[in-house]
Amino acid sequence: MGERVVGDWFGKTVIDASTTMLTEPFVHDFVRANIWHFRGRDADLLVDTGMGICPLAPQIDTPVDKPLIVVATHIHLDHVGSLHEFPLRAGPRHSAEHFETMNEAVTYAYMFNNLDGAVSKLPAPGWTAADYKIPPAPLTRTLDEGDIVDLGDRQFRVLHLPGHSPDSIALFDEADGLFFAGDAIYDSMLIDDLPDSSRPDYRHTMRRLLDLPVRLGHGGHGPSFDGNRMREIATAYLRRTGGV
Ligand SMILES: [Zn+2]
Repeated sequence: MGERVVGDWFGKTVIDASTTMLTEPFVHDFVRANIWHFRGRDADLLVDTGMGICPLAPQIDTPVDKPLIVVATHIHLDHVGSLHEFPLRAGPRHSAEHFETMNEAVTYAYMFNNLDGAVSKLPAPGWTAADYKIPPAPLTRTLDEGDIVDLGDRQFRVLHLPGHSPDSIALFDEADGLFFAGDAIYDSMLIDDLPDSSRPDYRHTMRRLLDLPVRLGHGGHGPSFDGNRMREIATAYLRRTGGV
């Protein structure tokens, strides 16, 4: 993995020739999510868009004539903040209607408005978390279980993996096991106690993931993981919540 370079707001890590990860090092770690830029042959893929506190689009270096397909893995604030900046906006069918308003009840933006230590560095003079708002970003494509996101040389299958949220989706390249997991699974503290979380659904998702032939997983938070580590995380969750 490459060295992380921290700019004015975003941190950028080159993972490999086709993959760059961006994060927002100055936001509270509760809402510090991973943003994945993956370069395909005919189109690039951006998985999630961070908080939207500072413009993200200028940070994504895609050739002007190449489409950038942006996929929101779920509608929580730390994944959809900058979605409105991009023209090709794909996201879960389950929550599609809410992208038209970015309803705070489903994005949880209100939690950030009241968060102590929301940022460790001001993004602009006079900025306050109390004014934070996510602009609407109506989806231009809705994604559901089994759909394909096609980059030309790679096809990602959409998996609907609820639990953390009812709308959580992930992208899986069945040809070589590359997995963009969103918040369905990641190598850090899993959140299953939000108002729209479901522990039984999360357990079902974890059981399903035990059988998924993942080579390399890039999650919505935390470090990347291989298939063995993913099964450890899933098994630990199942044990903790009532048995495998
Ligand atoms: Zn989330």
